[in-house]
Amino acid sequence: MLMSDKRFCLDLNSEDIKAWCKEAGVPSFRADQIYKWISSGVINTSDMTNIPKDLRAKLEENFIFNSFEVIASFESKIDGTRKFVYRLSDDNVIETVVMRYKTGLSVCISSQAGCKMGCDFCASAKLGFGRSLTSGELLAQVVLSQRLMGERIRSVVVMGIGEPFDNYDNLIGFIKLATDPQGLNLGARHITISTCGIIPKIEEFTKLSSQVNLAISLHSPDDELRKKIMPIARRYPIKDLIDSCRAYTLKTHRRITFEYSLFEGVNDSDAHARALAKLLGGMLCNVNLIAANEFPGSDYRRPSKDRVARFKQILTEHGINATLRREMGTDIMAACGQLRRSTVEGGKS
Ligand code: SF4
Repeated sequence: MLMSDKRFCLDLNSEDIKAWCKEAGVPSFRADQIYKWISSGVINTSDMTNIPKDLRAKLEENFIFNSFEVIASFESKIDGTRKFVYRLSDDNVIETVVMRYKTGLSVCISSQAGCKMGCDFCASAKLGFGRSLTSGELLAQVVLSQRLMGERIRSVVVMGIGEPFDNYDNLIGFIKLATDPQGLNLGARHITISTCGIIPKIEEFTKLSSQVNLAISLHSPDDELRKKIMPIARRYPIKDLIDSCRAYTLKTHRRITFEYSLFEGVNDSDAHARALAKLLGGMLCNVNLIAANEFPGSDYRRPSKDRVARFKQILTEHGINATLRREMGTDIMAACGQLRRSTVEGGKS
């Protein structure tokens, strides 16, 4: 199925719906009812019980409803992490992960169906690129997951399949929709964007002075190694990347997070830890260490617990705030770097 010219219902904000209702001669209170349904994750018109049948039909004629179907769902036996596999209206398939923390539910959403960035250690890169998701498709992953879990989502990380800054305008549109007090009303501080380091977009994002958190997938303290595992490093040298990160912290006064996946024998030595500490010294930041998540076909292996602990210790000794990310959903391929895009032929899985 080709991408339709119609807009996906969750791409509409309350003003868009009001304007459409006005033009279609529909009373304005209906706009509030429709927006209430879609922003709470009800996008099947048959479930909109207080909307008359003829208006539901009109909505379907003009916008994409009744799509974004969950075609599979998995639950981790280890920690209860849930992975939902969604089929989009054009049959691209994406994955969304919901994790439970002491503070509540956190959802990791995909920003694209596939990814162009080609990081060597990442399952998302292996199946190529489909397309970027719209703002509403980013939002759908939050509101539908919330509805499926029967519980409010407390925080969102844009860290699933895709590079969010390669889909910048839709990402910013998503932030506006997600923080809309009339809609989901999520606090900006409860949203985190993770980028592999597209410097012009980091600079653009810095200018927004947003309360949204920024994370950088770094994974190496030097250009030579980073170029081998992350092709984006060929375009943007590490010095320039770190300069743009420093500029971000100086302008926003917000702490930046550096994601560092540890791969055995690749980037996990004492020398790497010392070089990383030197690179980030004096910056308002923390390092989030992740022991590599393995997946079939990957050459990258997870280091021993002692190696990970030693790496963290060196960072701490050098005054760098470092945390070790709790592994979640590894048994359902829901952990960092394990998500995959796919397409469903003929509309059925
Ligand atoms: S790590 Fe992120 S940027 Fe790199 S290929 Fe995977 S999804 Fe894309």
